Amino acid sequence: MQEKKKKIAILGSSGSIGTQALEVIEEQSHLFEVEILTVNKSADLLIEQAKKFRPNAVVIVDQAFYNQVNNALFDYDIKVYTGAEALEQVVTFNEVDIVLTALVGYAGLQPTISAINAGKTIALANKETLVVAGELITRLAREKGVNILPVDSEHSAIFQCLTGEYMNPIEKIILTASGGPFRGKTAEELKAVTKVQALKHPNWDMGAKITIDSASLMNKGLEVIEAKWLFNLNPEQIEVVVHPQSIIHSLVQFEDGSIKAQLGLPDMKLPIQYAMGFPERLKNDFTRFNFLDYPQLGFEAPDTKTFRNLALAFSALKKGGNVPCVMNAANEVVVAAFLEDKIGFLEMSEVIERCMDEIPFVEKPELEDYIQSDKQARTVAQRIIESV
Ligand code: MN
Repeated sequence: MQEKKKKIAILGSSGSIGTQALEVIEEQSHLFEVEILTVNKSADLLIEQAKKFRPNAVVIVDQAFYNQVNNALFDYDIKVYTGAEALEQVVTFNEVDIVLTALVGYAGLQPTISAINAGKTIALANKETLVVAGELITRLAREKGVNILPVDSEHSAIFQCLTGEYMNPIEKIILTASGGPFRGKTAEELKAVTKVQALKHPNWDMGAKITIDSASLMNKGLEVIEAKWLFNLNPEQIEVVVHPQSIIHSLVQFEDGSIKAQLGLPDMKLPIQYAMGFPERLKNDFTRFNFLDYPQLGFEAPDTKTFRNLALAFSALKKGGNVPCVMNAANEVVVAAFLEDKIGFLEMSEVIERCMDEIPFVEKPELEDYIQSDKQARTVAQRIIESV
């Protein structure tokens, strides 16, 4: 039992990971307390969370909601900030022990860099940060001696399998994928699918962006790149297997051929709790997995001819440089366009591929190059979408 509570900064406290992290903190309130909460626009929820958890500071990124939040918290001893730059500042506050990056997309990059520079432990839920700038982020973390603890369930599984195996090289990892709501569908069938169908994930209850990414297999593509940087792997060492029940969260194969897996019911609170409690395992009352409820666990190869995003992600990973950053930016634009009914499901991959071909290649990008590539890719993707 530790004496001092770990103080947590949650970037993105209104989202699926953010709200579940607050549940974990409430359940383990003898170990954790909330230091910082940030949201983009969800002012009402932020106010409610702040009154309940009494953080030292909150950030409402969208300035249009600043007065509302500031007035509501006027009688509380809680500092209120606004603007995207505020995220980069609050993560450096002295009191913060762990920064949970639960915001969506590219927006996670700069605050994560800032938190690493300040020497904070990162509980990484924002996979896009490692996709965009994995080389830069892992180099910085090494220099600063900062731990990046994965919250993504697959990467948490691999991380758990690697505990105690420090000296033993990985032969390969096997990332499991549920296959999403469209598993088994043909390209012809996918042409007509709607966002309502795409937003119905069979096993996981998540935010809109990641749910669309799961349906298109881009989520697994992003996770392949995330795994490369977290575990220092070559593309050839990363395999994806579709496992529709989402019980085996991922596996590691060692050089003797032995495979270790981590299993459990699909519940993000477990990887969130593991990252925040690391290296301790914390007692909880989450529902336990029972093999007899799952007499059949299935496995199949991913259909990368139909779901092209996974193949595009492997190609981005092999090309390296700014290509994963370009892919990620294009993907954020096409997912938003799909959610606004501006493009079809399969067109998402076409736009991403064209962006990857058109944006100039930068072999060894630094931060400015990533920022530039992200901007260019968004512009090009938008232009392609509007021309369809
Ligand atoms: Mn995942």
